[in-house]
Amino acid sequence: MSVKQSELTTYSEAVEIVIRQAGAARRESRREILPLANLLHRFTAEPILAGFDLPRFDNSAVDGYGVLIEDLANASESSPVRLSLTGSIQAGDSPGLAIRSGQTVKILTGAPVPPSVEAVVMREFTSESKGTVEFFTGAGVGDNIRRQGEEFKEGDQVLPAGQRIDPPVLGLIASFGHAVFPVAEAPRIAIVSTGDELVQPGTAPLAGGQIYDSNSHALRAAILALGLPEPRLYHAGDSLEETAEAFESALRDSDLVISAGGVSVGDRDFVKATLEDKLGVRTIFWRVAVKPGKPVYFGCREKDRNMKLVFGLPGNPVSVLLTFHLFVKPALLTLQGGANKARILTARLAEQVRKKPGRLDFVRGKMTSSPEGTLQAIPTRGQDSHMLSGLAAAECLLHCRQEDTLLAEGDLIDIEILDWTTY
Ligand code: AMP
Ligand code: MG
Repeated sequence: MSVKQSELTTYSEAVEIVIRQAGAARRESRREILPLANLLHRFTAEPILAGFDLPRFDNSAVDGYGVLIEDLANASESSPVRLSLTGSIQAGDSPGLAIRSGQTVKILTGAPVPPSVEAVVMREFTSESKGTVEFFTGAGVGDNIRRQGEEFKEGDQVLPAGQRIDPPVLGLIASFGHAVFPVAEAPRIAIVSTGDELVQPGTAPLAGGQIYDSNSHALRAAILALGLPEPRLYHAGDSLEETAEAFESALRDSDLVISAGGVSVGDRDFVKATLEDKLGVRTIFWRVAVKPGKPVYFGCREKDRNMKLVFGLPGNPVSVLLTFHLFVKPALLTLQGGANKARILTARLAEQVRKKPGRLDFVRGKMTSSPEGTLQAIPTRGQDSHMLSGLAAAECLLHCRQEDTLLAEGDLIDIEILDWTTY
């Protein structure tokens, strides 16, 4: 059965639909309060607010000596200025120790800078001995002083709700003294692999037309790479009954179900019919003008004011991972309150690409920079949708537009960095 191009949803429409539907399925009330140790990769459910100025007090950016600017007006390498050392302040001390003209105070990195100090001179430009310090350089007001509130004033929004907590964000949360923080509950995910031909690695040698199940393992890894909780795994042989049974269980305790295979137009592709006819799943789209991944299915089930999302991804190993990246990631992001952002860069094509018109081809590529400093994209070897090696080698996806048929070497092209650890 051939599919008219006009029946296919375009890539950008499909992503928009996914985001809209996931937005409707999202329950903002589903949040939990987690300790710092468990915040990594979660999404803030509230803005991070500055509970105090940051820095909280003027402090030194270097190990050095606090001075008055006037005192060093004539200091140079050849005629150093000598000041008398009144004491030292280290990180953790309270600011005390005022200085007067002719005096200096040793101030270590992070130590509070007393109000009388106008600048801190780096230790490297000084020489200390027996209660005096020689300065080989002058100073300007505020040199090497980190000012109170220069990054945030008390009450400022540090980061909005919906921020993915990566290491620096986690550091900011801790900087403001939070031992716990509210985050969106992570979506509960189930994976359904389909196919009579599949055998689990390690369980039996392959016979006849059997192959090892790679998709459920690759999908599980894609989920864990985002820092999401362990998904539950199901398998269905190629029958209506087994497909219905697996999806029924998968839907029971999850917010989002991802299946692999059985969603195309083959005689033994039961996913769409089962979801629609037996499980009350409403089809939102089926078949998108992308390559690979055309048969991708998206539906939802609403029950007791509780909406679950279902992605039927195609079975070919490259298609399954790419459609996960293209369509499932935006849903997972939206469900957690995160905002999708375009990550398209422009690169020059290092070699010609031929394609059929009608679909947006996501050509797997590597990136280099040319001697002139332009980004270059090179298709990897093994572009067929059953060739995982071409995806394994890829660092980016080349977006070869729907209408294009021939892209020449040197053409400018949109590329997207392919990073399994980010949305
Ligand atoms: P299907 O969409 O079910 O027709 O599957 C398309 C292709 O992907 C077929 O060659 C399948 O054997 C293969 N395939 C489907 N599921 C898996 C899986 N879990 N692991 C590896 N290959 C698979
Ligand atoms: Mg199949």
